[in-house]
Amino acid sequence: MSIKVDALISRQFLAANLDEIREMREESRKQDAKSHIVWRNVALFFALHVGAAIGLYQIFFDAKWATVAWVFILHMLGSVGITAGAHRLWAHRSYKATLPMRIFLMCLNNIALQNDIIEWARDHRCHHKWTDTDADPHSTHRGCSSRTWDGCW
Ligand SMILES: [Zn+2]
Repeated sequence: MSIKVDALISRQFLAANLDEIREMREESRKQDAKSHIVWRNVALFFALHVGAAIGLYQIFFDAKWATVAWVFILHMLGSVGITAGAHRLWAHRSYKATLPMRIFLMCLNNIALQNDIIEWARDHRCHHKWTDTDADPHSTHRGCSSRTWDGCW
């Protein structure tokens, strides 16, 4: 039973080698790493939030109901692209999909604007494998709530 679980964890890139993680944490404590602000990302996130504020204003005061419905539909489609596509299909290989389904999910993934599939899957695998170490691109130890401000610091 344990062997099957280990194989499944390994096959779906959920592997958490606890000794390796402990080792990496101890190693990162020894180093005096300084965080720095990535101004390009700060500018992009600032522009993104300004656009979101303008969009929110328009939803309530300016947009037609069909536009609001379209935004909602795009949001849902992008979410499916990330959860079913980039996350489950490509990052974890949780299931297999036919070529037309992969192309469809790839298009939905693009709607979400969360990097390309390869980069998304790579970062997510690193996140699972080395959770909250220096090798985790979404580490909670990087300040500035890296889960939403990813790469900001
Ligand atoms: Zn995952």
